[in-house]
Amino acid sequence: MRQKTLKRALVAFALALPGAAIATVAAAPAAHADGCYTWKRDLYQGRSGDDVRQLQIRVAGWAARGAIVRIDGDFGPETAAAVKRFQTAYGLRSDGIAGKQTFSKLYQLQDNDCTPAHFSYRELDGGCGKGGWSGGPLSATETKANAVRTMWKLEALRRGLGDKPLNVTSGFRDVSCNKQVGGASNSQHLYGNAADVTSQSRSLCEISRASRDHGFSGIYGPGYPGHDDHVHVDSRRENNRDNTTNRTSWAAPDCGVSR
Ligand SMILES: [Zn+2]
Repeated sequence: MRQKTLKRALVAFALALPGAAIATVAAAPAAHADGCYTWKRDLYQGRSGDDVRQLQIRVAGWAARGAIVRIDGDFGPETAAAVKRFQTAYGLRSDGIAGKQTFSKLYQLQDNDCTPAHFSYRELDGGCGKGGWSGGPLSATETKANAVRTMWKLEALRRGLGDKPLNVTSGFRDVSCNKQVGGASNSQHLYGNAADVTSQSRSLCEISRASRDHGFSGIYGPGYPGHDDHVHVDSRRENNRDNTTNRTSWAAPDCGVSR
């Protein structure tokens, strides 16, 4: 985090200098090795591997409406579409090929602990105050990995809403916490797969509607029982561990969101 702040300061400083100096400093981020993950080759349709998987996790929030990006390590058409939408959202050339510019932007967006810039483990690891990612149906490691994927979708949602801060009021819940707050027995919160979201500057309906364009297969908001004071978003369709069918389920009737 500190390094990133320094980088921002350098760039800001460079902006105040004449042309030559700007070019020198602005070119630097492309070469930097990232604290979380560094890509070593360009990625495009047909490529596969863990580097593709790492990319998919970070662009899954840019799936087309109602679609999902499978985190399978195979760069197919849905990954290409998501990369294109990511590129457009951040003002990059939209060609569906993840190269230097795309990786540079991802490095800017990710903290050294692999969470995206505007969300943190602490925010998602609520568990009624207990924390630690344990006490759910999955291992702590699996749960935490799901939370990272949730956060990258939230980062995309936040961008889609015009870079307005989103508050996570509930993320992962262990079994007893979930019971305590009256959550559904198969709640996606148990898997680190869900977040309850509010915002000071965006209405719950704006959040509900925008969530459709950011890879969330579960959306519950205003008009759905118990969801008039937050929007619930999750990735139920990608969850193969919850013994439910992998179907999209959207319900925010007061906002015209249904599926
Ligand atoms: Zn919820």
